Amino acid sequence: MKLTHIEHIGIAVKNLEEAITFYEEVLGLSCYRVEEVKDQKVKTAFFKVGQTKIELLESTDPNGPIAKFIDKKGEGIHHLAFAVENIDETLKEAAEKGVRLIDTSPRKGAEELEIAFLHPHSTFGVLTEFCEKKSK
Ligand code: ZN
Repeated sequence: MKLTHIEHIGIAVKNLEEAITFYEEVLGLSCYRVEEVKDQKVKTAFFKVGQTKIELLESTDPNGPIAKFIDKKGEGIHHLAFAVENIDETLKEAAEKGVRLIDTSPRKGAEELEIAFLHPHSTFGVLTEFCEKKSK
């Protein structure tokens, strides 16, 4: 498998607007995109720091994965996403090496990325995402 860089860091927040204000007014970054990902029951906001993005995630559903995460652990870092060269091969290789997958095949994420998650039980507690940009 070939990981090329940290694509983004996902951060779970209760209130997207308030979090955006912090990132813009305190950290001086600018939000370049807000997008709802229905599949994951989240509204996302993106910032760029070098080639890495910060992805803020607010749940759109009280039973969605981000709402559940915040209930259990509070706001904070939710997942770490690596850009990979071939997501299908990467997933296959991870599975062959005994890693527990949340997604056995890639699905659509924000920003037209193909994404898949590895289970944190197999990754030392870090929810790990692979992503590949298929369309330019
Ligand atoms: Zn992500």
